[in-house]
Formats: sequence, structure tokens, C-alpha cells
Amino acid sequence: MTFSATILTLYPEMFPGPLGASMAGRALREGRWALDAVNIRDFATDKHRSVDDTPAGGGAGMVMRADVLARAIDAVADTRPLIAMSPRGRPLVQERVRVLAAGPGAIILCGRFEGMDERLFEARPIELVSIGDYVLSGGEMAALTLLDACVRLLPGVMGAASSGDDESFEMGLLEYPHYTRPVEWEGRTIPEVLRSGDHARIAAWRKAMAEDETRLRRPDLWERHVGARVQSPSGARHGQKD
Ligand code: SAH
Repeated sequence: MTFSATILTLYPEMFPGPLGASMAGRALREGRWALDAVNIRDFATDKHRSVDDTPAGGGAGMVMRADVLARAIDAVADTRPLIAMSPRGRPLVQERVRVLAAGPGAIILCGRFEGMDERLFEARPIELVSIGDYVLSGGEMAALTLLDACVRLLPGVMGAASSGDDESFEMGLLEYPHYTRPVEWEGRTIPEVLRSGDHARIAAWRKAMAEDETRLRRPDLWERHVGARVQSPSGARHGQKD
């Protein structure tokens, strides 16, 4: 099963965009995942090919029409989850990324203007996903972000670079700090333990650093991590689901 993404957008030329470069781009060319950007405007029916209209009740901006969006969705819908990028969505977390990456892919709806007619979300099974508490001008960059996070987890995409297991959020913790040569730079040296060759000591140091980093930088994550450990003494892995 190949992870397959269909993007519904008014700007299909934005895809694959940055996902055409580097590891994701190579994987795309190798067929390890698939991407199809579909223009929502192709599903407009009037002679002006309009996809939006003025907001009911008045106010600034334009609202994307439910009928046009639904036609676009219905033309591509299959068993894949249907996601709309939205600042009102559930904030994206690594656990959701991992589940999506293990599945068949996603159909991703990108908003523009003031957003989409609310009735669409009642009429179709759409999951709203936010990439953070700030407002973008459109859903395309949000969709690219979501896809980047998924694609790097697909088998064969990152090669030997990393199993992904040690990284920030995978254990409900931020990652420990990294160092590389030169050993001394501007009077600063790489911590002695990392040069000791003692793998047990290195692992213990990294774990302690990951915990310190999380406690200091992200008290919210730390609280959840500690809470999860209490609930599930068999290991943090089980406790990180929210
Ligand atoms: N008027 C809306 C903002 C619309 S922004 C509001 O205040 O909530 C236009 C489009 O950009 C949205 O429909 C959505 O697809 C996308 N977008 C903006 N911010 C986003 C975010 N934080 N996460 C995901 N998508 C976002």
C-alpha cells in the first residue's frame, strides 16, 4: 500500500513545492508515496467558475462555497481520511502523524479567504486539523507541513538517517542536544560523556538531558509525560496518547 495524498486546493501549482526536494522529493520520484493536487475551481458550475461568495450576515472577505467543495470531495473520496486544514482544528501532534503515516494517505482540503461554509463539515466526515495557534493565508502550507511530517516516517524515506524513534515527541519528550566535530569550537567543547565511548553512560546522559530540556522548555509536555508514566508504569510509549 502506497501512502497517497490528494490535495484539494485553488493553487495546485504549490505542490509538491518543497516536498519535491530532498528526501521527500526522492521518495516521491521513487514511488514511495504519491501526490495529486486537484484544482477546486474545476468543480465550479457557473460560467464565472466561482468557488466563493460573500459571507452571510455581512462582514469582510469571502467564504468558500459548500456545494463546490463537496463536488470536489465527492470526486476523489475513497477510504482515506478526509482532512481540512483549519485554525479551528485539533492541533497536529506526532501521534496523529504516526497514525496517518501508517494508513493509506489522506485527502486534504486547503482553505482560502475567510474559510469554508460550515455546512460542509456537517455534510461530510471531515476532520479539522490545525498546525498551530496562528493564522495562515491559506491551507496549502499547512497541508505541506502535515505531509512532510508523514512522509519522513514512511518506510525507506529516511534510510539509515534515523529510525525516528529517538526524536522529539516520539517518547513524549523533547530530544537531547546534538554535537558534532570539531571537538572544540570558540572555546566550547563537546560534553566529555559523548566522547567517552561508554554507551550506557551516553544513553543515561541523553535521557537526563531530554528530561531536563522538556521540563525547562515545555512544562506542558513534561506534565503529560509524568502523568502518563504514573498511569502506565510499563513504559512511556503507552502513555503518550492524549
Ligand atoms: N477566518 C479564519 C481564517 C482563515 S485563513 C479564522 O479566523 O479562523 C484561510 C485558510 O488558511 C483556512 O481556511 C485554512 O485552510 C488555512 N489556515 C490558516 N491558519 C491555519 C492553521 N493554523 N492551521 C491549518 N490551516 C490554517
